[in-house]
Amino acid sequence: MSDINSYRLDRRNFLKGVAGTTAVAAAGTGLLSGTPSLASSPTLTLGDAEISVFSDGTLSMPMNFILPDRSEEEIKELLSPHVLSTETLTPDCNVTLMRRGDRLVLFDVGSGANFMSSAGQLLANLEDAGIDPGDVTDVIFTHAHPDHLWGVLDDFDDPLFYEAQYWVPQGEWDFWMDANTLENMPDERKSFVVGAQSRFEAIADQVEMVPPGTEVVPGVEAVDTAGHTPGHMSYVIHGGSESAMVIGDAISNAIISFEKPGWNSGSDHDTAQGIQTRKVLLDRLAADKTRLIGYHLPHPGHGYAERNGDAYKFVAG
Ligand SMILES: [Zn+2]
Repeated sequence: MSDINSYRLDRRNFLKGVAGTTAVAAAGTGLLSGTPSLASSPTLTLGDAEISVFSDGTLSMPMNFILPDRSEEEIKELLSPHVLSTETLTPDCNVTLMRRGDRLVLFDVGSGANFMSSAGQLLANLEDAGIDPGDVTDVIFTHAHPDHLWGVLDDFDDPLFYEAQYWVPQGEWDFWMDANTLENMPDERKSFVVGAQSRFEAIADQVEMVPPGTEVVPGVEAVDTAGHTPGHMSYVIHGGSESAMVIGDAISNAIISFEKPGWNSGSDHDTAQGIQTRKVLLDRLAADKTRLIGYHLPHPGHGYAERNGDAYKFVAG
């Protein structure tokens, strides 16, 4: 089984299995600005995979929700140099789209109309780029929080991406569908449980479970990054000589998560496991120089983790 300690599998063997020699020969990786086909962000190419990031809008969260254990002084000291508000965080929401062969794959689907008025813009942005929901062949979820899952239904509560196969981390399905989860959840997050259950039920006929370490669609490897939620999953997109990792909310803020990976995050379900996962992931991403794509990092959310003393910094790119 692969987890964040062992995801770096033998790339040659992996490519032999999934992408073949064409991808290796194609190897060119980089930013092609102005590529119109997938709009919204410049298209990244990884071998034969084209990756674009679409905005679902932004969220608004009070700082004392994100950093419940930190003093005003500590927060000021960290954020003021970056000219960021110390009261409210307004993270972007970045939905990754991958086109490879005949597959058009979305990683998460945004908030839809019923979470925050500043979010829920994915569908409009896809349509602006000429992409119809019926074109999407696969939707792969990192986890089942509202800003990642609730956009899965249309105005009639039917699956929006009606032709798609939905891929749900096994641990996420098990957790959110468990009869005890609602009862055990603090009151202010009970709506997350009700919301996840109703969406999962609505797409159940189109769902496949994703155990960690499996190849979800060709060239996409699931990596266990539990902590933010019990079954949180990240995905390595392999292509050509490089790879990129869709990290969901395992690393969720370009300043806080990188400069203070050991700080408790109020948005993590299990704060200790969240810290452990974040540290291991940052260490691996920095050592491997693997591009990451973060759901809440500044749009379009891709870049690199670089070591900076005993912490890290996010370098967009
Ligand atoms: Zn999120």
